[in-house]
Amino acid sequence: MAAIPTYHYPQQGKLVVLGAGESGVGTAILARQKGFDVWVSDSGTIADNYKKQLHDAGIPFEEGMHTESIVLDAALVVKSPGIPATVPIVQKLKAQQTPVIAEIEFAAQYTDAKLIGITGSNGKSTTTMLTWHLLSQAGLNVGLAGNIGRSFALQVAREQHDYYVLELSSFMLDDMVYFRADVAVLLNITPDHLDRYDHKLENYTESKFRIVRNQQPDDLFIYCTDDPVTKAALGKYPTAAQMLPFSLHEQVEPGAYLNNNELVINVPNQDIFTMDINELSLQGKHNVYNNMASGLVAKAQELRNASMKESMGSFKNIPHRLEFVACIAGVNYINDSKATNVNAVWYALESFAPHVVLIMGGVDKGNDYEMLRELVRTKVRAIVCIGKDNSRIYESLEDDAQIIVNSSSMRDAVEMASHLAQKGDTVLLSPACASFDWFRNFEDRGNQFKEAVMDL
Ligand code: ADP
Repeated sequence: MAAIPTYHYPQQGKLVVLGAGESGVGTAILARQKGFDVWVSDSGTIADNYKKQLHDAGIPFEEGMHTESIVLDAALVVKSPGIPATVPIVQKLKAQQTPVIAEIEFAAQYTDAKLIGITGSNGKSTTTMLTWHLLSQAGLNVGLAGNIGRSFALQVAREQHDYYVLELSSFMLDDMVYFRADVAVLLNITPDHLDRYDHKLENYTESKFRIVRNQQPDDLFIYCTDDPVTKAALGKYPTAAQMLPFSLHEQVEPGAYLNNNELVINVPNQDIFTMDINELSLQGKHNVYNNMASGLVAKAQELRNASMKESMGSFKNIPHRLEFVACIAGVNYINDSKATNVNAVWYALESFAPHVVLIMGGVDKGNDYEMLRELVRTKVRAIVCIGKDNSRIYESLEDDAQIIVNSSSMRDAVEMASHLAQKGDTVLLSPACASFDWFRNFEDRGNQFKEAVMDL
């Protein structure tokens, strides 16, 4: 049996926060409340609203630099997940054995709430929001945090919740040691961000499996048994938790599975939940998985079936995930700007009937576009590329695409797509790439797409 984790971190003294974004500022406020001597350091510029919060809380900070003498003098450092472990200041801290941890790891020490951690390569935000929606609609007092929304640490400092649903990226998990998830959800593991993992899928897998570390026999581990990488790694990362798998292909009991078109959720000691998948508000196979994962969490918290059904039928996803924008001249325009890897594009293409005009491209993260070939051949009328360098997309897909063209801006891409599409088609922005060559971030990319569509 795994030992119950206790946090071996200093509980007083100098605490440095690296990175003054949402998580950093929240951490600083919680740390101050707990009696630490706090210093915030950001090598970039700090947004005005965060400066104000630090100022109001009387917390000293610096921007545009890290003053080494102060940072290296810390007893404990909390680092933003956006800062890679390879930057010199973090290397120096590690060399002198100063603990460098994540916001979630730090703040989890100071709450007794039940923690539901959700990770995976794709579907984290959707499943986190959906789980939060299910639990809060059922009347539970739930906070939403992690890679989404407001800082976890700030909520721990200022609010009182019985549950938290936490979206956990692999970068956050990398800086977590003692964190224990009462409920851990691992949606899938497909290649992503490999540039930060020595281009090794096993390193990235290890990071994702940190979510089960420290789990106890009363805890739950919810995972997709159809996912080959997860399945292969189960033996390597054993957990003490109760396992609740979900699958589209196997009747897993206990767990969640499909019986024809009916989603079945079977959790020990609870009544069985069933729902026709056509009644789910989120459509597409990937969303059946997401509903299974959220439904398992909800049923294990003893939610009533009627409440779950109502919430799964009414949930509205956050923007930029297969978001319907408009139907113009019989063509549907869909914004899936959050699809920043090939697997997400696969599921997006899978969800639509032929024909699709696919807008894709941007900053390549070492993508393997080959897995899209079959779907491109059978469903795609044309590919319109966005982004500076599309050579790898051309190399992999030009034999399968009937038409593949470059564009010079999002507006240009949308105009070209509107000419290439025929009545009944779908124009889908699902880039498979990061956005920062042409756009500020994926939201900016999605918003520019929506504006260009509305101006057609
Ligand atoms: P994340 O937070 O992990 O990036 P999102 O919920 O924001 O996930 O969705 C990102 C992209 O992945 C979207 O294009 C979405 O349609 C797609 N997606 C959502 N859930 C899944 C899933 N379970 N498997 C594969 N792709 C998914």
